[in-house]
Amino acid sequence: MKKLEDYVVSIPDFPEPGIIFRDVTSVLQDADGLNLAIHLLMEKLEGLDFDVIAGAESRGFIFGMPLAYNLHKPFIPVRKKGKLPRETVSASYELEYGTAEIEIHKDAILPGQKVVLIDDLIATGGTSKAMIQLVESLGGIVVKNLFLMELAGLNGRAKLEGYNVDSVIVYD
Ligand code: AMP
Repeated sequence: MKKLEDYVVSIPDFPEPGIIFRDVTSVLQDADGLNLAIHLLMEKLEGLDFDVIAGAESRGFIFGMPLAYNLHKPFIPVRKKGKLPRETVSASYELEYGTAEIEIHKDAILPGQKVVLIDDLIATGGTSKAMIQLVESLGGIVVKNLFLMELAGLNGRAKLEGYNVDSVIVYD
């Protein structure tokens, strides 16, 4: 039986020299890989009390949505600037390569709601930190930051100190 790691293709020097890109499309394009990924993420949410799942554009959508659907929870898309049509709040952050700004609808999370944040991968933790800022600015409580993959060498966990951080695969 294949492990989830076996489905992830790693591409050296993409999109820039020195970056090893951990490609989730290689997981998604295999029915068993996709099934295993969602199953293992679901396991990480077992017994957790929460109200809402929010995922970061775009790979956070891919993994957040099936979890929300299976667990009968709402799914909140956190999008790149300028994509959401109603009133938003926004946060800027630095990526492993470049900078970005993300937004969430102001009415997407109610004060006191317990929120699970999902992304495919944590690198520096910048995206997650910005997502936490958005959720907290609306009065939400981040109860878990869940990832399929973690690049431990970039120490994103340090940026999320004090928060629950969990991932299925950890790379050095
Ligand atoms: P960060 O904000 O630094 O934690 O970066 C996380 C985001 O960037 C995730 O949404 C990933 O999809 C993407 N990302 C960063 N580094 C990599 C990498 N080495 N391989 C694949 N995706 C990456």
